[in-house]
Amino acid sequence: MTQAKQTVIFFDLDGTLMVNPFDRAVWPVVLGEIAAKSGLDEGEIFKLLVAESAARQRDESSSPVLSMDWDDITQTIAARLGISLEAHVESLVRENVAISSILDNGADVLRELNARHRALVVATKGLAKYQIPVLAALGLMPLFAAALTPDTHHALKKHRAFFGDWPDRTRLQIMVGDMYDDDVQYPAGHGFKTVWKRPNLDSRLAAKDPFARALLYPYADNQAVQADAIIQSLQELPAVVRRLEQAVLGFSD
Ligand SMILES: [Mg+2]
Repeated sequence: MTQAKQTVIFFDLDGTLMVNPFDRAVWPVVLGEIAAKSGLDEGEIFKLLVAESAARQRDESSSPVLSMDWDDITQTIAARLGISLEAHVESLVRENVAISSILDNGADVLRELNARHRALVVATKGLAKYQIPVLAALGLMPLFAAALTPDTHHALKKHRAFFGDWPDRTRLQIMVGDMYDDDVQYPAGHGFKTVWKRPNLDSRLAAKDPFARALLYPYADNQAVQADAIIQSLQELPAVVRRLEQAVLGFSD
């Protein structure tokens, strides 16, 4: 029998732990083809794609999986523009996984965090078909106990269902990510501790410790919930996790 996990750390991927091939190798091909066939500007086309995904995410009757399915979204927009699209997002991701990269020496951070009482779990809004090939190519999969994507429990990251029974099986849940809504606001609403990654803090905030930064940060008017800690790099994460564990569990490693 495996030892019960006390802490689960949920990791966002894009912009937090890795850089995927979308910006450098997927969007240029997809947008280039749609632009050539439609005459529209690539920037305008990208806005249409993002708006379609956002509209699907807001629509609770829409499938959480389809709202992040860039193949379905690009085909839908192309059809709306009266053109056919040959480029295939999933194939482009797989063909270009080699240009992905790990941020902040993240693999070493994950190894440092690895402990019997902790589970490290991927929590990404990207679909498995786009994210797992990248994680595998980067050699990160063996460092995680599980990978949660919208297709795992048919929920978006903002939904409690996304996280399955991990919160029920652990005493401390920590979300680590770079997006305010998905990685701070919603997980805080589920009772998770939140560690917000903000790489470019001003020098005044950067000089503070991650917990003080979270108190002093100039949140926007629509950012009502404060993070528990703000880190500039994943290198700062292990110390933050230990402090949260000491406070909540009464022990760490
Ligand atoms: Mg992110």
